[in-house]
Amino acid sequence: MKLAVASGKGGTGKTSVTASLAALAEKPALADCDVDASNLELVLEPRLRQRATFSGGLRARIKPGHCIACGKCEELCRFDAIFFDGPGNGRVPRTFRVDPLACEGCGVCAHFCAERAIELLPTDGGEWFVSDTRFGPLIHARLRPGQGNSGKLAALVREQARETARAAGRQLLLIHGPPGVGCPVMASLTGASMLLAVTEPTPSGEHDLERVLKLARHFEIPAFVCVNKHDLNPALTAQIERRASELGATVAGRIPYDPAVTAAQRRGRPVVEHDPKSPAAQAMIQLWKEIPATFTKSECDNSRAISAR
Ligand code: SF4
Ligand code: SF4
Repeated sequence: MKLAVASGKGGTGKTSVTASLAALAEKPALADCDVDASNLELVLEPRLRQRATFSGGLRARIKPGHCIACGKCEELCRFDAIFFDGPGNGRVPRTFRVDPLACEGCGVCAHFCAERAIELLPTDGGEWFVSDTRFGPLIHARLRPGQGNSGKLAALVREQARETARAAGRQLLLIHGPPGVGCPVMASLTGASMLLAVTEPTPSGEHDLERVLKLARHFEIPAFVCVNKHDLNPALTAQIERRASELGATVAGRIPYDPAVTAAQRRGRPVVEHDPKSPAAQAMIQLWKEIPATFTKSECDNSRAISAR
């Protein structure tokens, strides 16, 4: 079973909930697909076992010794990434140069350079890691600042985690998804058995929850909803839960505002470990009981609801 935890927006408490579910689950494997700001590791103390580089794409480079400064590449580049300020060679006093930050790696310049003076090189997009935690193996990653293709890296993390879970005989893969509804979120949700959407009782929480639930509905993934800090706005919590039900999701729990969560974060621990008797920890324990208990029925109900739409 693959359970993806997402939120639609950042700051709803998704990481705290995921870390607590990791502590509560029986022998899970873990994937942190939030590759732009991977932070599950802050509360799981991973011990690094393996690391590998990630190349998100290609960048053009002009070989100064081969360029005859015809200017064709500059004329064709739609991203204004080519400049006439490269070093000279035996034939011309100045050559063209590619700005690696502006280059999108489309390859047009290399294709049309008659001198074959342009090469396309893989970018250094970041790294991904296999680590051990006290709850199970964790696959996580770090995208380098300014690098794109976070969706591709999130997909890589998800696939590596699936392989790791299978090899380790882990029945549950718990996926910590990134905020938003863009490529990395879609990569996190691909192949998920169900989604747990963590939201908060604010207008933006409500708006972004709706977006992520519509995404889950599009992919026909049964969705559960949990409202974090529900007691800060009971009226909006009730409204969010009503809307979640209308969108076919199952309301699985509410977590109260609790300073124990912040205290647990400071100690680098899931709150269910740090202070299991606290109200937030108790709510998360109840939430975890609700999800497997309702999964089979809800999966059937949601599948029927989805096919009826
Ligand atoms: S097309 Fe090739 S030869 Fe012409 S300026 Fe560009 S790199 Fe140099
Ligand atoms: S690969 Fe594309 S974006 Fe990069 S310099 Fe060449 S034409 Fe421009």
